[in-house]
Amino acid sequence: MDMNRHEFELDDLIERIKDNDNRLIALQVPEGLKMQALEMMDAIEEDTSARIILAADPCYGACDLVHDKMQRMGVELVAHMGHSQMNIDSGMPTEFINVTYDGDPAIDPVLPILSAHREIAQKRLSESLNESEMSEEEAQERFMDAVGRVSPLKGAKLGLVGSIQHLHLIFDYKERLESAGFEVEVPVGGARLSFPGQVLGCNYSGDSDDIGHYLFLGSGDFHPIGLVLHTGKPLAMLDPYTGGAEEMSFQRIEGILRQRFGLIMACDQAKTFGILIGEKPGQMRRNLALRMKRKLEKHGKKGYLLALEHVGPELIDFYPVDAFVNTACPRIAIDDSVRYAKPLLTPFELEVVLGDKKWETGYKFDEIP
Ligand code: SF4
Repeated sequence: MDMNRHEFELDDLIERIKDNDNRLIALQVPEGLKMQALEMMDAIEEDTSARIILAADPCYGACDLVHDKMQRMGVELVAHMGHSQMNIDSGMPTEFINVTYDGDPAIDPVLPILSAHREIAQKRLSESLNESEMSEEEAQERFMDAVGRVSPLKGAKLGLVGSIQHLHLIFDYKERLESAGFEVEVPVGGARLSFPGQVLGCNYSGDSDDIGHYLFLGSGDFHPIGLVLHTGKPLAMLDPYTGGAEEMSFQRIEGILRQRFGLIMACDQAKTFGILIGEKPGQMRRNLALRMKRKLEKHGKKGYLLALEHVGPELIDFYPVDAFVNTACPRIAIDDSVRYAKPLLTPFELEVVLGDKKWETGYKFDEIP
């Protein structure tokens, strides 16, 4: 990854600091950009009379804004880099700093994958249109998506999404893909998202029945895994850093689902659960945690509420419970469960353990709206 091709839009921040005559600023930088944090601190201190404190704890999203503990340090403003504003209030004035990457890969390598996925989507769509002629059993068989849900389509459009540092290119790519013959929709999601085409590891709310398959503009498989778990639709990836194209295979998703089912089965006899509540402003789902506790009690089981800022095996493995259910960042249970000595479930998975939800009707991704 060529870090020099990232652009950090510091101008608005510097203006705001000057206008407010701020003296102490906290800078919050995502993990992938921390190497450049000192350079940014220099740039801000050179242009203003403010002093900068780097909030050096791990930061993986705008869910994790610096909150009031830094106010006690005298911090007047938080500069949060590389993520967009969410529907949360951290209690601190916060300036969000856009980071964009100028990588602009050709679409040619991804076109064969997109054509194959369009065929899958069109087949599912035509079966959806003939739904009235089918028996219920036939319909169940036909509309089963990659995560085992029955979900008929209303369209077979290509949904074009990306991670935040590539979203400035999204409408340019829309035009290129339309010129290549695709009908493209840039989905617009709910209040947790700020931009058309944006996805988060915990939120894919722009999905609609008109979209039959996806292209993700970005790198890594974090967002693609979540998007397929959430939508059950075929997904191609185009990496602006390498120009490479690939698909998120259904075998990979099946492997994850097998692992999730194994954890559910392992909790069959579990009687005591630790219920994790995230303390980070955009991960705090206290009501969901309390609901899980009530459910456990209703089924004659015990749930202990554990609040944490960061969740990690060293912080919870030693508690004498049989398993954990996680209401903090949904991806902790999905992506990190092998790191934990005991089963770590999502709320939906706990409901399956308790018999309140059925695995057979399809996987339900744990989304934070
Ligand atoms: S996926 Fe997790 S870290 Fe990322 S925004 Fe959502 S809650 Fe935060």
